[in-house]
Amino acid sequence: MGRQAARLWFVVGCYLLAPYLGLDSFEVDPRIAEVWPLGGVGFVLLTVVWGLPRRRLLLVLAAMLVVCFVTAVALGEPPAYAAWFGLVAVLQPWVMAAAYRRLRGAPGWVPRHAADVGTLLAAAIASSLLVGLLGGYPGLAVTDLPSKVLLWWVLRNAVFSFVGGLIFCVLFHRERTEALPASAWYHRVGLAGVAALCVVGTYHDPSLPLSWLLIVPSVWGGMTLTVRGTAWLTLYVALVAAGMTYLPQNQFGYVGLLPAASIVDLLVVASSAFALLLALMRDQRARLIEELAERGRESEAQRSLLEAVLDAMDEGVVVVDDQGVRSHNSATRQLLGRPLPTDRAMAWSETFGLQTLDGRLFDDATLRRVLYEGLDGERLEVRVGHGADARVLEVSAQSVSHGGDASRLLLLHDVTAQRARVRELSSFASMVAHDLRGPLTVLDGWLEVVEDDPGPEQADAALARARDASERMRQVIEDWLNYAVVQEGRLHPEVVALDQVVTGLVESRRSAGLDHDEPRFHLDLPHRVRADPGLLRQLLDNLVDNAVKYTAADDVPLVSMRSRADDEPGWVRVEVADRGVGIPAGQEEQIFEEFHRGPAEGRSQGTGLGLALTRRIVGMHGGRMTAHRNPEGGSTFVFTVPAA
Ligand code: ADP
Repeated sequence: MGRQAARLWFVVGCYLLAPYLGLDSFEVDPRIAEVWPLGGVGFVLLTVVWGLPRRRLLLVLAAMLVVCFVTAVALGEPPAYAAWFGLVAVLQPWVMAAAYRRLRGAPGWVPRHAADVGTLLAAAIASSLLVGLLGGYPGLAVTDLPSKVLLWWVLRNAVFSFVGGLIFCVLFHRERTEALPASAWYHRVGLAGVAALCVVGTYHDPSLPLSWLLIVPSVWGGMTLTVRGTAWLTLYVALVAAGMTYLPQNQFGYVGLLPAASIVDLLVVASSAFALLLALMRDQRARLIEELAERGRESEAQRSLLEAVLDAMDEGVVVVDDQGVRSHNSATRQLLGRPLPTDRAMAWSETFGLQTLDGRLFDDATLRRVLYEGLDGERLEVRVGHGADARVLEVSAQSVSHGGDASRLLLLHDVTAQRARVRELSSFASMVAHDLRGPLTVLDGWLEVVEDDPGPEQADAALARARDASERMRQVIEDWLNYAVVQEGRLHPEVVALDQVVTGLVESRRSAGLDHDEPRFHLDLPHRVRADPGLLRQLLDNLVDNAVKYTAADDVPLVSMRSRADDEPGWVRVEVADRGVGIPAGQEEQIFEEFHRGPAEGRSQGTGLGLALTRRIVGMHGGRMTAHRNPEGGSTFVFTVPAA
């Protein structure tokens, strides 16, 4: 049986007993029934079935009415009164439940705040008063109004409904998670013992001064137990108190309007409510503290995430306000070469040696005005450091407002490489222009020769020279394009078999008939590597090209290519060797520099870019590349690529 069904059967059982207990105890005293549980039990029953569809809920209400009616008739009440009694007895818990739900303005039954407890009490009082006014309490005719007796009834019904409702709302509907820590078992046993002593003591001699003892378990429990634990304690105290009513000296007497035993009953329920209230408030406080700690952790996590993101950025980020520098990331420290002092008075130009692009120290007043006031959307270029370490920073600033404060966000972007690249490209462009001019002049010259003397001999010689010139121009343009592509290019690595790439390359050279002195290849490339196929091909093509170019014109170029597993695990080492003129002595490193050309020993002039690109392609794959002269003549180029 599910927890919900068990609860339902328990409350239904209680509800079957409740009208009997109420009406039967009414026999004891003609005006005040000592036990009047209908309101509380009815309310608890309704909280369990409230979620049912409307039709079923109406059925439950009708069944409650029938139970009250049948019990009243069985106990000898006239049917008309029994029906009225039943109707009012069902109306009261329904009004209480509906009013509590509506006034609370939140779903669920469990009071979360002290205000919810107040709402439950108000609903209990209002519904009890309604029952009184409608003459729903047995033996209390409307004609008795207004009387202190009615007030007494309303009070008793209200407090019993309220405390019963409160306890069972907590026990039935509260989620199991507790913000308050559970106390040790011996503490709970001790508390139960003391509570029993206090209740027994009070009922034993219900004279008022002693009855204050009842406060002890309430305060103790409310201050130390969980909310659920307090609910169990108050239920336990109520049961002990109910048992006490059977003591001989505690006979249900009615002496005066307010019998001492009844006052003690009221004290029991009031102190129970007080205990629950205390526990709920402690629980609320504990939840708030937990929530606060959680928020603290969240904002700390957010802060460190933000810091990590800022620190991971390549751009320097600085936040400044009226007080000075509020925060900055580690890229700023790196770009400016030192940590930032925080006070506003610092002289940026002097502190960091900021210069204009033409090398003058930046005027600090201008700089500060720009940083703290202007420059929204504009960019400023400053130079930091000297000589080879000098860097050009692009500074942009914009205003940010947060939580009513205004700050300035400065972004420092290192544009040194960009500037260098622009310089490089423009020098390359002028070099290309210069290189193209030469063959073009040659071409023009020979065309003129043919124009002047269009004989077959001249034409043949002119055509051969013109082809050479156009070949030279093609080479220049190709190198230029490759250079641009590799500079910007992204890597798309995949698994490639080295011998396949090289075979393809050899085939296409043959079919293009690139050279009359086709090189002879010796291939030993058993490895598969993880590389960008296009770039790998370009790399090998360059090396083969060079092997051919730098072999004396009357020799047949020999290219031997082999791959080995590198000493470093996970890498393949590829060697491309030729028997050509060999690298100029002592230039094993320089030949990889951009635009570096050796003495014109080869047949064809180059641009000095081939090996720079080759090394760059290897670098893009994470590998290394070197070259050396072979003792027996020629050169060997060695590079590493990731193994597949
Ligand atoms: P380019 O061939 O256009 O001059 P490279 O960057 O390909 O430019 O080569 C740079 C220099 O390295 C060449 O000018 C040449 O002196 C030298 N070099 C390159 N490859 C070889 C080789 N296989 N044998 C001898 N020298 C070479």
